[in-house]
Amino acid sequence: MQDTDNRHTDLIDAALRRWTERTGCRRLDLKGACIDMDGTLYDSMRNHTAAWHRLMTEQGIPCTTDEFYLYEGCMGADTIRRLWPRRYSEAPDSDLIARLYAMKSQYFNELPAVAIMPGAQAMVRELMDAGITTILVTGSGQASVLEKLDRDYPGAFPDGRRITARNVTHGKPDPEPYIKGMELAGTSPSETIVIENAPIGVIAGVRSGAFTIAVQTGPIPRVEFEKAGADLIVDSMPAFADILPSLISKAHNT
Ligand code: MG
Repeated sequence: MQDTDNRHTDLIDAALRRWTERTGCRRLDLKGACIDMDGTLYDSMRNHTAAWHRLMTEQGIPCTTDEFYLYEGCMGADTIRRLWPRRYSEAPDSDLIARLYAMKSQYFNELPAVAIMPGAQAMVRELMDAGITTILVTGSGQASVLEKLDRDYPGAFPDGRRITARNVTHGKPDPEPYIKGMELAGTSPSETIVIENAPIGVIAGVRSGAFTIAVQTGPIPRVEFEKAGADLIVDSMPAFADILPSLISKAHNT
């Protein structure tokens, strides 16, 4: 146990040093946590990639299921704009984008219900018990998942503590979603952690200046999170829930 604690402390110290070097923030005074949804709070990425692949294949757009893991974190409209030129010369207008996204949402809803990410409830509970303000920051507009939050994470993400596709002009990898999340939390980058599972989301978190944690919950290799600039990379959500108390005790002294 002592060895495990020491290992966690070493990992966190090294990560905090990296964050201090890149941001110039002197210390992390943890008061807020901005948390991604798909692939972080819910094990939903397999369904998202399957729904996107079905939609785009029906539109005659060549694509693979796995490539949609790389676009994870992007707003749906951005994913449609990215793939559309593979088949069509004219850019899709906002009506067409809305229709296509509604179809993708429908295909998603036809798949088996998504499960809570193992370890994520413990992670959120630890933050809440420490009095840290939890904020949802997602590029998703998928109502069927958003509606589950209150039941699966009671008290964590009430109205007024959610940034979704509706609240931002520029989605991840732009830092805007996380900057707006910090505004909701009333915290600065030196008081905030970002919890992500996708490289695009990690880039957004890093650009926001917050201490950014990548949790590997899918098939994306560690090197992609290193390239994205994550301050701390953890290989599963249960492993992050184990490390979190050490991070909280180190960075949350008030
Ligand atoms: Mg995600």
